[in-house]
Order: sequence, then C-alpha cells, then structure tokens
Amino acid sequence: TAIPRRREVPALPQGVTAEAFQAAMADLRTLLGAEHVEVIDQALRDGWYMEHPNTHDMMTILDDEEFVASAVVYPGSTEDVQTVVRWANKHLVPIFPISMGRNLGYGGAAPRVRGSVVVDLGRRMRQILDISAEDFTCLVEPGVSFYALHDEIQARGLGDQLWVDVPDLGGGSVIGNTVDRGVGYTPYGDHWATHSGLEVVLPTGEVVRTGMGALPGNNTWQAFPYGFGPYSDGIFSQSNFGIVTKMGMTLMPNPGGHESFLYTFQREDDLAQLIEIIRPLRIRNILENVAQLRHVTQSVAVRGQPRSDYYEPVDGLVPDDIIHAEAAKTPTGDHTWAYYGTTYGPPEARAVKLAAVDAAFRQIPGCRKIDTSTFPADEYFWSRDKIASGTPDLHELRWCQWVPNGSHIAFSPVSPIRGKDAAALNELARKRHEEHGIDYFPAFCVGLREMHLIVEIVFDRTSAPKKAAALACLRDMVDDAAALGYGEYRTHLALMDQVAGTYSWNDNALMKMHEQLKDTLDPNGILAPGRCGIWPKRYRGRGWEM
Ligand code: ADP
Repeated sequence: TAIPRRREVPALPQGVTAEAFQAAMADLRTLLGAEHVEVIDQALRDGWYMEHPNTHDMMTILDDEEFVASAVVYPGSTEDVQTVVRWANKHLVPIFPISMGRNLGYGGAAPRVRGSVVVDLGRRMRQILDISAEDFTCLVEPGVSFYALHDEIQARGLGDQLWVDVPDLGGGSVIGNTVDRGVGYTPYGDHWATHSGLEVVLPTGEVVRTGMGALPGNNTWQAFPYGFGPYSDGIFSQSNFGIVTKMGMTLMPNPGGHESFLYTFQREDDLAQLIEIIRPLRIRNILENVAQLRHVTQSVAVRGQPRSDYYEPVDGLVPDDIIHAEAAKTPTGDHTWAYYGTTYGPPEARAVKLAAVDAAFRQIPGCRKIDTSTFPADEYFWSRDKIASGTPDLHELRWCQWVPNGSHIAFSPVSPIRGKDAAALNELARKRHEEHGIDYFPAFCVGLREMHLIVEIVFDRTSAPKKAAALACLRDMVDDAAALGYGEYRTHLALMDQVAGTYSWNDNALMKMHEQLKDTLDPNGILAPGRCGIWPKRYRGRGWEM
C-alpha cells in the first residue's frame, strides 16, 4: 500500500533549503553515479520483512512522516563510503548508515532524524571476503545476510564443519545485527562477543582497522580481537561514531550432533522457581545455548492466525481461559511457559546433559517434557531447532498476523538470572499491558549470567489509538524498570533518548563521555545524529530529544 505524503517532499534535513538540497544531490550524483542515488519524493511504500522499504520505518509507532529519509545512496566500496562521508561534511547533510535495514521492531531502515540521507551499504557491498575452515572465521561486508553466509558455507561443501549463529530472523545483515548487539541461539549467540576485527569509516572520512587489522600484513585479524592498545571496537556498536565496512566473525565448529527439547510449565508463578533452576545449569553450560522461555499467548499467536479468530472484541486482552483452551488444542498442549532448549555433541554427551536438565526441571510440579518426535514439520518447535543449530529461518514472523497491519516493537530489559528479577519484570510488564489493553508476549532469553526479557508489542500500524497505547505502554515499562534498577539492552529509534536517559549514574557521566567522543570524532555532527541518544553539539538541547 502507498502511504500518501503529508509533509514537505522530499523530507529536508534541518537547516538545508530545498535549493541547497538539490545542489547537494547533484554533487552526490556526480561523485557516485546518478544510478546510485535515489531521492525519496514519492509516496512511501510498506512491504514485508524480505522486501522491506529502505526509506522509512514500515512499523512506525509514531506518525508516518517522522522517521523518513530524504534520499538513499548506495556505495559500492569503502572508498565510496568515504566519499559519501566527506560529501555529508561539505553540505552538512545528516547521513544514516544501514547494512540491510531489516532491523524491524527497532526502526527498520529508518533514520532517527527526518530528512537524513540513508547510506544503504547492503545493496552493493555484499562480498564474503573470506571463509576459513582452518581458523573457523569469516570476513564479511555489510550486505551479507545470515542466509547468504549460511548458503555460501553449504555451497563450498563446508556445511558439515562450520556453523553460523543466526538470530530469530535470518534475513538481516551479519554486520547490522552484530553492531546493534543482536543475539542468536547457539553457544555462539552473543554476536558482539564472537566478532573479531572491524574496518570503520570515521565521520570525517578516514578509514581505520581495529585490533590486529591495524598491523599491515597480519594474518590474525579474525583470530585475535584485541590487537594492542585500547580496545576500540566497543565504541562502534550501538553508536554513531563510524560506518562499519568490514567485520570478522568467528564460526562455530559443528559439535557433532544436536538435539532440541521442549518442556512446559503450568502456572504463571512457576517462573521464579524455574529461573532459579536454570541459572546454575546455564552458567555451568549444562544448558548450552541461549534458550527461550516463552509465554503461552505467544505459543498461540505464532500459529499465525489473527486474534479475531479466537476473540471478537478488538479492544482489551484476549482472556486467559481462551488462550489456554487454544493452547490445549496444539501439539504442545496447554501450558503457561514453554522452554525451548538445545543440547550439542554426540548422543552419549547429550544424554548426560539431558538427564541433568530433566531431573532439575521436574522439581517443578506439573512440568512436562513434550514428545516432539511426532510434531508436524511446520510446528514452531522445528523453527527453534533450526535456529539453535545454525540454519536461518523466518517462522517467528507469524505472530505479526495477530492483529491487522501487524507491526511490532520490543521492550527488552536485562537482569541477572534470578527468580525475583524475572518475577519483578514479568509483573511490571504484565500490569502495564493490562492497563493499556495489549496482549502480553514475553520471552526470557537466558544468556550466560544474564537474561534478556523480550516483550514484543504487536500493534496495528494504521490505528492511531493502538499506536498511542503501544507507545505509552513502552514508555511506562521503561520508567518502571529503571525505577527498579533495570535497563534495556537495545531499543527502537523512538525510545533511544528515554532509554539512554536511564543510564544516568553520576549526573549522566557516561553520556557526557559519549558526547565528548561524538564531538571529537564527528565535529560537524553528520553521522546518525541522535542514534542511541547521542546527539552532536549542533543538535543538542534544541528540541530533538523525544
Ligand atoms: P539488519 O540488516 O540486520 O536488519 P540494520 O542494517 O537495520 O540491520 O542495522 C541495525 C542498525 O545498526 C542500523 O539502523 C544502524 O543504525 C546500525 N548499523 C547497521 N549497519 C551499520 C554499519 N555498517 N555501520 C554503522 N552502523 C550500522
């Protein structure tokens, strides 16, 4: 569907007149080739995950016109990226780099500042520069998706040796997901922790290579992440300090077999005890992967039918008894919490770990181990099984169909793996969902010593009141969580200022340091202003924060 434009078109960057913008665009066409520059002067078009727009956030929680680009540019090389950055400094036009822009739920391809020029790296920079079966590493450009990397490993006949860790949805960029500190579900699930080496174009146009990449002629860039001196990679994740043009990633050795399993728990209140049981198993690596503990509403929604199939009223939560009755009809059966885990290694190694997990989980009355051997091939369980064994998948998207024009946005706080923390977060999120009349989709993703609670709000992006309710619910949850000492690990463009504001210890000392870095590295404030709450001095305190 085409979305009519209701503000000036193209969306002009702040302080840039229409004439200056046209002149800047003419300059950019000369520098890069007219075919690699696109001015966004038409109606916006939404798509779906695989054919997503790179012009705006197709799952916008605000007005359609808020997070909109003025133009999109397609660099073909690191040198092109340098050219674009220098061009932006000359014309004082804000630019916003994306790898592939499938960051749905966190802003998609959209820039934080309306009228920014989106630098779409993924369209032309899609080379897999290296796959090493000796070192179990690879080196990729921004346009390499998890699917593409996985497929190339298979095509080279290395599939039985090398695994790629994939996130819930595999269509995104390996670099995009990693620099936004996304997670996957094998033992290599912490993507940022498993990357090694970056090539970065700085906001003034210089290129640096981090870690061993700084040593000319080295062969260790993807094997040793630190090099010598300060470990600078960190400042290029969840920031606006540089454009990543190459990244090294470690690959997991095929563990020699895997087996996924599913346990269910009956009562909402089983959560705290279960999390207490999970913690020691997870820290000792008996539970080996980032497992998911999902709520029954999600188990029903992921079947892909709209909520109207179960419950007619369009407002309010679908009542618990209806959800449980529907869950009872599924192969998993009725439950409140479903634990999806995977164990790795040859059968005898798996058996030892599975027995330990089984004995521990069965301490909870009503715990059931589900026999998944008879599950049909399109059952969600198999999607989790694929993802936990390095095969990309898209099944997860099905819960977007829960409401018409289903869009989603996440609340993602982190905490230690403690029963009381899980219960506190679950309670505050549930309470706010009830208050705002939104069905509650929580999943606890248990890392090694911490867990992410991911609560996806699914809303109708064409309904102003539904969007307003979703945004109010999110803002309340961020504040409630911060009041209890919890913070989010990642967030949507619309919430970046609020979330950054909760990390305020010692009079916002950390943000002050980020602002100092920003002003030094990006004196003209052209690179992704406002991303992750970091505003350059040209914008700071001028009403841009939201
Ligand atoms: P994906 O391709 O996985 O969907 P995106 O390309 O949307 O991920 O990346 C998520 C966010 O991370 C982007 O909005 C952008 O702010 C940042 N980002 C992505 N790629 C780069 C990059 N190569 N350099 C700097 N920042 C990036």
